Amino acid sequence: MPGVYISYPFCNQKCSFCNFASGVGTGDSQGRYTAALLHEVGAHQWTWLPETLYLGGGTPSLMPIEQLTNLLRLIPRERLMEVTVECAPGTLSEASVRAWMKAGVNRVSLGVQSFDPTELRHTGRRHRAETVREDVALLRRIGLTNINIDLIAGLPHQTPQSWNASLAHLEQLEVPHSSVYIFEIDEDSRLGKEILLGGQRYSTGFMPSEETAAQFYEEGVARLRDMGLQRYEISNFARPGFQSRHNLKYWKREPYVGFGLDAHSFDGTVRWSNPDSLEAYLAVSLENREVEPACAEEEHFFVGLRLTEGIQPTADEWRQFARPIAKWKEAGMLQHEGSTLRLSDAGVLVSNEIFQEFLLV
Ligand code: SF4
Repeated sequence: MPGVYISYPFCNQKCSFCNFASGVGTGDSQGRYTAALLHEVGAHQWTWLPETLYLGGGTPSLMPIEQLTNLLRLIPRERLMEVTVECAPGTLSEASVRAWMKAGVNRVSLGVQSFDPTELRHTGRRHRAETVREDVALLRRIGLTNINIDLIAGLPHQTPQSWNASLAHLEQLEVPHSSVYIFEIDEDSRLGKEILLGGQRYSTGFMPSEETAAQFYEEGVARLRDMGLQRYEISNFARPGFQSRHNLKYWKREPYVGFGLDAHSFDGTVRWSNPDSLEAYLAVSLENREVEPACAEEEHFFVGLRLTEGIQPTADEWRQFARPIAKWKEAGMLQHEGSTLRLSDAGVLVSNEIFQEFLLV
């Protein structure tokens, strides 16, 4: 069953490492954006009923309550099973969470990234560990217990001690889902641009090496396993029954429709996306978006291998990709069991390199 993604691209600050189509924005731009978004969602012809809805961004928890609930009213509810709102720590209130729940929200994703004050300060985040504890307590008190916490392994200033402390905070909070990403420098982020210029701002001189970040990630995987959170995708860990139904659609190539800035859509055959600049989004006629056909074979490997359960290639795919499969199996990065192919633990760490070889160019 399909999913819906909605983007609210405004944040309280721009984090140094972030390359998302997001920014601080003015009251005027937020108002114009929300009006355009409501128009876009309201004009959509629903030929199917969504099963999942994900509000991401940006920081959708900053959206005024009334606008967010108006937006959710435009989505068919009959089959909705999972409705997630991404939140920055410290942007929740009892009133907002109660209103979201009344509008159907049943899952919250907290963009924590770190519990360490030095890492937080140097990447531009505003919360403290205490803020996250208060948010989780508030959510639980009101009855919203399906909570994800995001962490990043390899942030500037991260040390073995600070990473272990972040994992200890996560353990204490006992949330049923966590996403742990290995830090990647994006050239379009402020940090990435500073590195390209050879500058010192944004703590460019305090970056853990790639090897150290990978080591932090592996320690995280083991700690999360001990917490009962099993890896089901390269960066996602959950207790049984708490996997993100929405995100699984991306990796299983199920259809979804995206609304708002830089939102992507896939109908099972073709992909299309909205503009990634605010002015272009506000100006563009969304009826004339460019579509591009999806390559099922490539994507089966490229996105499917991200899942811990792996994929079952077709007979044609085994033939088509015989060389990269043999190469990475021999290197111990791919495992082949019966009709299933999956990344090994070591393969997860070089997954981008592996995926490149499944591109049909
Ligand atoms: S990391 Fe999240 S909170 Fe920070 S600027 Fe990017 S979208 Fe906003």
